[in-house]
Amino acid sequence: MAKKIQMPSKVRLMSHPEYNIVCRVFAGTIPYRVRIFITDAAGEDGRPFTIPTSLLPTILGMTEGAFFGGVPGALGGAAGGYIGSFINLAYLINAGDAYDSLTGKDRDTLVHETTHVWQGKNSTFALSYVFNSVYNQCVLRNAYAYTPNQPWKSYNVEQQASIVEDWYMAGESTSSNLYHYITDNVRKGDA
Ligand SMILES: [Zn+2]
Repeated sequence: MAKKIQMPSKVRLMSHPEYNIVCRVFAGTIPYRVRIFITDAAGEDGRPFTIPTSLLPTILGMTEGAFFGGVPGALGGAAGGYIGSFINLAYLINAGDAYDSLTGKDRDTLVHETTHVWQGKNSTFALSYVFNSVYNQCVLRNAYAYTPNQPWKSYNVEQQASIVEDWYMAGESTSSNLYHYITDNVRKGDA
């Protein structure tokens, strides 16, 4: 059942500078920018997590209205009207304290969490399966560790996100031993 989370106080669209970064990493395999929202919600220990709005009831046990209850104008009104009209079709990157620094010191978080968006868009498994795994592995430290050069499909959702994050943070090198995952799997939408 849902662990305790920090409820959001802010929500916005993914910004153009953020989207430029993730487009470079994922090429054309992620949703449109207007389908990706950033909130300052976080897991129990402040950890970011990503979830489609449609799974708020099943995974967090709360409705969209309850989740965004503390965000002024999120679901209606002049300020939130646009977000309100799209939010039921969106992915929510709940970035916690990284809300304002996703193109700066927390760009590892941006790329990591966008990998979960990518998994949601491209996986052949049901969304609920994918994001139950994301949500549960999010709290298990050992879920992130991986040994390079194993088959992409043998990695769990957190290991895949760590691979993309590590490749990005090491400078997006084409000579990295992780680069083949970017070209052969990530950019082909092979979740
Ligand atoms: Zn993750």
